Amino acid sequence: MLSEDREPSDLFMKTFCGSGIGTPQAECSCGRINYAGSSEFMEEGELDSLRERTRKNPNRFIGHENYEAISVRTLAGRNFVLGCPCNGLKTYEDFLLTHPSEIARYFEEHSKEQLRRVEELIADSQRISEAVKKL
Ligand SMILES: [Zn+2]
Repeated sequence: MLSEDREPSDLFMKTFCGSGIGTPQAECSCGRINYAGSSEFMEEGELDSLRERTRKNPNRFIGHENYEAISVRTLAGRNFVLGCPCNGLKTYEDFLLTHPSEIARYFEEHSKEQLRRVEELIADSQRISEAVKKL
């Protein structure tokens, strides 16, 4: 059932993440700084500084040397960098794909609760309306 692809599907991103942005560097929600090693939009010395930081802390600074831009998508108010080692968006998609019956049951129960609330509001409205008529 799960895709062997490391990237989240286009369908998942289109449905939940909007169009996203491209940028020379970005921090992923996991805390890693991802940067495009072939970007034309780095400031003087910025790329050398990032590469030096990668040498010192390769798990925190991730260079994508052949990329001209880093692609960032947002889900639930958090930024996720495509190609980041955490592959955070894929985690969300995999969760959805591996829990279809639980998700369906959740929405079923959620809908029932919403319906109960609407019915209570209608009953309250009818009681108020009857009380007003008696005035
Ligand atoms: Zn990440």
